[in-house]
Amino acid sequence: MSDATPLSINNPPTWSYYNSVATFDEQDHTPPTAALVSLAKLFIKHDAHAHFGIALLHRHEHLARNMVMVQSISTFEGTLFTRCQAEPWGRQALLPCMFLFHEQHGFLPLEYTTPTLGKQAPTMEGPFLHELANFLVHNKLQRVFGLARRSAPGLFWAEYALPLGSGTIAISTISAKSESHVVTEWAFEEKDDEAIVCETKTCEKDSSAAHSRPSHAFLSRLGVQLAPSK
Ligand SMILES: [Zn+2]
Repeated sequence: MSDATPLSINNPPTWSYYNSVATFDEQDHTPPTAALVSLAKLFIKHDAHAHFGIALLHRHEHLARNMVMVQSISTFEGTLFTRCQAEPWGRQALLPCMFLFHEQHGFLPLEYTTPTLGKQAPTMEGPFLHELANFLVHNKLQRVFGLARRSAPGLFWAEYALPLGSGTIAISTISAKSESHVVTEWAFEEKDDEAIVCETKTCEKDSSAAHSRPSHAFLSRLGVQLAPSK
């Protein structure tokens, strides 16, 4: 790998790499905390923490050829939410927002956002990506952790799977994680020269824990249905 390993935007898109990612149920839900602290220091050292965080790699869908996962953000009844679903590649302009490190090809995009969602992530410098890639490989975490655009500070997201083929919905919430959720994204902050790991997103672990779900009335007004309880 060269020092200039890019955040490559592959064309054609990378559905086969997406499908190689562990499903949510297959992925280890308790990644090493010590590694997250080391990653916080690494991100802060390179000043990458304002724009990027770490995601627990997992998928809820199997992508067909020429499809990509696209996140789009909206507000409904004052609540900010994100839909993530499969879309045909090329239908609209897309910006990559989550990356998998591949030892042959560098950082490959796994998920995209629409440009309306916001700014293009700044292209990170080679030394940051090089050190991140080395850390992931050295600690055998390249199938566990991905690089993700971080959301605005202070936002916390709870993700829920929709019926198979419909992707997921993530709702912004003020409440922190509940026992029925797994932490799937982290952001990093620097406070008094300390590197702080902040949980920024969870994914619903047990869809039978209906009490932790967003109100049925809210979702039905939104026009979405959650995956049936297990
Ligand atoms: Zn998820």
